[in-house]
Amino acid sequence: MNIHEHQAKAVLKEFGVAVPRGFAVYSPDEALKAAKDLAKDTGTKVFVVKSQIHAGGRGKGKFEGLGADAKGGVRVVFSPEDVKSNADEMLGRVLVTHQTGPAGKQVNRLYIEEGADIAKELYLSLLVDRVSSRVSVVASTEGGMDIEDVAHNTPEKIHTFTIDPATGVFPTHGRTLAKALGLKGDVAKQGAKLLGQLYAAFNAKDMDMLEINPLIITGDDKLIVLDAKVSFDSNSLFRHPDIFALRDETEEDQKEIEASKYDLSYIALDGEIGCMVNGAGLAMATLDIIKLYGSEPANFLDVGGGATTEKVTAAFKIITSDPKVKGILVNIFGGIMKCDIIAEGVIAAVKEVGLKVPLVVRLEGTNVELGKKIINESGLNVIAANDLADAAAKIVKAVKG
Ligand code: GDP
Ligand code: MN
Repeated sequence: MNIHEHQAKAVLKEFGVAVPRGFAVYSPDEALKAAKDLAKDTGTKVFVVKSQIHAGGRGKGKFEGLGADAKGGVRVVFSPEDVKSNADEMLGRVLVTHQTGPAGKQVNRLYIEEGADIAKELYLSLLVDRVSSRVSVVASTEGGMDIEDVAHNTPEKIHTFTIDPATGVFPTHGRTLAKALGLKGDVAKQGAKLLGQLYAAFNAKDMDMLEINPLIITGDDKLIVLDAKVSFDSNSLFRHPDIFALRDETEEDQKEIEASKYDLSYIALDGEIGCMVNGAGLAMATLDIIKLYGSEPANFLDVGGGATTEKVTAAFKIITSDPKVKGILVNIFGGIMKCDIIAEGVIAAVKEVGLKVPLVVRLEGTNVELGKKIINESGLNVIAANDLADAAAKIVKAVKG
């Protein structure tokens, strides 16, 4: 699960991390008030108006309808009145960045921060490294730009080291970080302390990625987290209600939200063949064989072992609500799941939502004969398949003609 920058900074602040002061706002008037409060509290004359969307590259992003010369999704301004007028221009508008895709994302909230005096921009991230089974730290002196570009053009400027979860952070990690980032004296000490705080937050909150770009050194030698992007391991959210409460459903695929209500494992993909499968392994094999037969899957969907008619109906509705879907392949192995339940679910769903695209059903396993009988006697236009290859060939042929 992803969260917004302002939320990430609030989480990090709990662990002692130095972040600028700021307020999340939803309207131009709130933005004005936030700026005035910041000016009063900190004496700042510089304000930053930051679009809050679950995507990076906001600074260089472009708002729809504002023209190529307009300022991007992160704006530095010099009065509370300018904070308000910029907020007015940005809120409700769609911001397109290299991470949002061409459709962009609507900006519904802003973060109003005190401006920082940037002397140097650095890059620092922590992530779970499956190869070493440790937390990987990635550090670079080339902050503020795309780390993928740095990795591509100047790989020698990216430094990586790992922290063993059994032992945690040692002083030697701090020295390694200082060397990687070129930190000296007191700033190096701040870096070591920051690494400890970030690692503690990462561990305690079950993050799977924590990216700070940029981490800055200010004109008066303070190390400050200026941007923060955090994602959490969804499997651990049950033990972090505080984090789960930060979820912003407007940032997520509506079909995935609907699927999560029914405890379906659903991931939207870009192709044209909707898939309903039980078991993650069989679902992946189904995606593979659709590609092998020359088409692309529209989704991954595992209805699980013990799916009910209600669950199958919900799954079917989610698939048919996707305008990209040109055909549907139901591929069920009835082990725990019974084929007749699937058949009933499919028929109930088709009767409820209608069927505007070809449907191929392949059933195998427990109660398979009963399942086939139910489908054959339903009077619906369903193409029966005998095995996985037959099913893939039939649905691709039905879609492509
Ligand atoms: P991103 O583009 O989505 O990664 O958003 P960032 O939060 O990283 O902001 C983009 C850039 O805006 C940063 O790399 C900084 O150069 C600049 N920026 C952000 N906050 C400030 C600030 O307080 N003062 C100044 N001068 N620049 C800032
Ligand atoms: Mn950034």
